[in-house]
Amino acid sequence: MRPAVTVRGLEKAYGPRRVLRGLDLEVRRGEIFALLGANGAGKTTALECIEGLRRCDAGEISVDGRLGVQLQSGALPGHLRAMEAVRLFALWNGTAPDGAMLAELGVDRLGKRPYAAMSAGQKRRLHLALALLRRPDVLVLDEPTAGLDVEGRSALHGCIRRLRDRGCTVLLSSHDAAEVERLCDRLAVLRDGRAVFCGTPAELAARSPRTVAVRTADGWIRRETGDVGGALLALLEDARRRGAAVLDVEVGRGALEHSLLELLEEGTE
Ligand code: ATP
Repeated sequence: MRPAVTVRGLEKAYGPRRVLRGLDLEVRRGEIFALLGANGAGKTTALECIEGLRRCDAGEISVDGRLGVQLQSGALPGHLRAMEAVRLFALWNGTAPDGAMLAELGVDRLGKRPYAAMSAGQKRRLHLALALLRRPDVLVLDEPTAGLDVEGRSALHGCIRRLRDRGCTVLLSSHDAAEVERLCDRLAVLRDGRAVFCGTPAELAARSPRTVAVRTADGWIRRETGDVGGALLALLEDARRRGAAVLDVEVGRGALEHSLLELLEEGTE
């Protein structure tokens, strides 16, 4: 199956600053794919090149299907009401608004509220609804949950998952390792203008050492290790030698955030 988005050797500089230096990406059809990276790593630049909003200096980009876009910050005239915006964008796109989608995003309930009076979360949901009016095959979302509270974030995650389940490919950027771990099927980490990791959240988490811990009456003793069995046996043996009863045992997997920090710290700049 052809990938939904293919990026090969993407280069982009702003004056002397080379932000993208041969970025390669492949987003598979029907997955939620995240771009992660430090501030200024070039996530927005890469997404804007893919969206066609920004001209790249070199490289190839191909998107298979119709693209829907939600920019990092969108703005509409303050007096425009939610459903007026929906009708206007539907007219431009030559589509009819999908009532179920508007209800799912809670945009129908915003009805007559003017844009200027909407909260950050309501604006984000409206912009997502506007992006979906094109009925995209590939949806690009630049930090879709930035500034949202826990409830708004969780509702938006639900919407993004349902879109994926209906076959839409979602490419998003995020700063939040926990969000990416919960939401995304695969991710790429950008550093020095390239993807320095590409894989599943579990594969990224597995790069950091696992922890084993044993609890006795004296408390927990923890070890970071690449050899879970050996480290656990050593801790149990130690407790036996001390004559301490083992009350609990814990084996933790590597933390995605830990692996991500290590990858970013390996940077040369
Ligand atoms: P963040 O996580 O902070 O949103 P990002 O990974 O999305 O950052 P970009 O917004 O793509 O990064 O910016 C990458 C670099 O390019 C930054 O150093 C930024 O200052 C610079 N940059 C972005 N847009 C422009 C522009 N229009 N002109 C000049 N420099 C720019």
